[in-house]
Amino acid sequence: LSVDKDSDLMHVIHVTAEMAPIAKVGGLGDVVTGLARACLSRGHTVDIMLPFYECLPKQQMTEFNLICTYDSYHDGKWVQTNAYRAVASGIPVILIEPANQFFKGQRIYGGSYDELEAYLFFCRACLEYMQKPRIVLTIHNMEHYGECRFVVSVLVEWNCELIKEQFGKSGLDGDVYATTDKAVDDRTIGHNPERLSLLKGGIVYSNAVVTVSPSYLKETLGSGWLSCILIKYRDKYNGVLNGIDTSLWNPATDPFLSAKFDAQSLAGKTICKEYVQRGLGLPIKFVGSDTHVKGKIPLVVCITRLVAQKGLHLIRHAIKHVEELGGQMVVLGRASNVQVEKEFESLATLHNQGPSIRILLIYSEELSHMLYAAADMVLVPSIYEPCGLAQMIGMRYGAVPIVRRTGGLADTVFDMDDQSKHEVSNGFVFEGIDEKSLSSAMDRAFNFYSNKPDEWQKLVMKIMQIDNSWNNAAEKYISIYNSVRSY
Ligand code: ADP
Repeated sequence: LSVDKDSDLMHVIHVTAEMAPIAKVGGLGDVVTGLARACLSRGHTVDIMLPFYECLPKQQMTEFNLICTYDSYHDGKWVQTNAYRAVASGIPVILIEPANQFFKGQRIYGGSYDELEAYLFFCRACLEYMQKPRIVLTIHNMEHYGECRFVVSVLVEWNCELIKEQFGKSGLDGDVYATTDKAVDDRTIGHNPERLSLLKGGIVYSNAVVTVSPSYLKETLGSGWLSCILIKYRDKYNGVLNGIDTSLWNPATDPFLSAKFDAQSLAGKTICKEYVQRGLGLPIKFVGSDTHVKGKIPLVVCITRLVAQKGLHLIRHAIKHVEELGGQMVVLGRASNVQVEKEFESLATLHNQGPSIRILLIYSEELSHMLYAAADMVLVPSIYEPCGLAQMIGMRYGAVPIVRRTGGLADTVFDMDDQSKHEVSNGFVFEGIDEKSLSSAMDRAFNFYSNKPDEWQKLVMKIMQIDNSWNNAAEKYISIYNSVRSY
């Protein structure tokens, strides 16, 4: 895609814990890469600063160079820190590597080091590297608010160990920030005077704050314990809908697909579907007589981190309901909680040998591309969803979204049966968090698929052409970056 270059160019550095595809856990990684690429193609200088995780796939990076070594502070000591430059997915990256145990291990998150301390160290090391930044904070998910201890002298339990102060290890005095107008939690319930919220501090001290959809902006101003501080700083708080990286997510060129396709030629999508069905041992054609589905079997995919936010009970219900309706469903997800993992493992044991459901409890970028391409429908039943990318990626690959009306899902999916939204209607939307609400949206989608195949085909072509690329959003980010510039 060629875009016009901006006239007023600047240097943008994204400081982030994730970047697709080399360090992706969820949507944050996609967002950073997509926004960086869009700003690059508008002519700006862009770098992504990332911890040098031990598990980074070095074969996916080129032009690897040590650019400098400097000392950054942690816990009373100066830590030797290397900054490397490399290029990943066509984007310049700067990798920060401290000479301690931080960021070692085989996973992005969940290493054996203290994560909060490691990211505090990383933030400080990035600021030292940049020296004179202006800061735009993008909030991807308000629930991860970075709670941080700042009180030293508390004795705990029988072993009389001192609670170690986390915030002070960054070299800043926690007491200075320990008021509710700065970084102390002002919840009336669950108020904890010994904790700082790094996110709250970030809102107060950043030059501008962005969140990832207009609806999530409204929701976060209307409720939640950060709403007071967001209302106070409303003038610098913006809602910009995320895009998707249309070069990584392009069914016409996607190297992971067994056949390529686009809105004008959908034959490749059928091949992708059959490839996945065969690969997973699912029947390709409907056999039998007593289900609602006639002809082709609709395939639903749900590709998600398996955490409460994503509507776990609704995902479980969908598995049951799709089976009742005679469709097929593939869940690709990884749980970070042992209890959730066990629950889904037992569902996998129950279903994975059967004819309709597959539950794959792994993280696989490759498989995710194949599944979006194969899918007739993509399910996103989140309880809350700041933006959500799965519905946008799904649409680009011709999978009709079935979503709960919340946050960014409400900004991107409009119900087929809502006459007032006819022009933009592109999926099936439900409101409640109960199973019936989900069932009724699924029933409508399945009926449409089975009874109106020609209209379904038109819908698939329509959703594949929706422009959810980063270009529009990048323009908004650039104007926010411009607004905080110091001259
Ligand atoms: P979140 O940021 O809350 O995880 P989003 O919908 O914004 O949710 O983004 C999720 C991203 O992570 C999408 O690109 C989705 O395809 C991907 N993803 C989630 N789980 C998996 C998995 N198990 N394997 C591969 N990709 C996954």
